[in-house]
Amino acid sequence: MKREKVYIGEIVVCDKCNTDLTNSDKSGGFICGSYAYCPFCEKDVLESLKKYNEEHLINAFCPKGVSFAEWIQDIRGKEVHSEIISFDSFKELQSWFEDMDDEIKRLKDK
Ligand SMILES: [Zn+2]
Repeated sequence: MKREKVYIGEIVVCDKCNTDLTNSDKSGGFICGSYAYCPFCEKDVLESLKKYNEEHLINAFCPKGVSFAEWIQDIRGKEVHSEIISFDSFKELQSWFEDMDDEIKRLKDK
């Protein structure tokens, strides 16, 4: 069995245009609800929010002089990750599920 951590906290992609800004110095953008809008989309999205009187839904703006990527990474925390577990055999997978089952039962009894 192999466990591999993928740190999704480091990757910063705009929720509107999908631009990867992980290595960009560009500052700007904002967070609205669970969406992060990049500096390139800021103007359009702001206009749209104003049009529908939904500006109050904005949580925060990227501070001036701080890159969008750095700002988002700080908010998320860099330890956020997914874990990919791969198995060499079906038996290994089955055994892993049995262990998980035991763990679930143990937690239920708590
Ligand atoms: Zn964008």
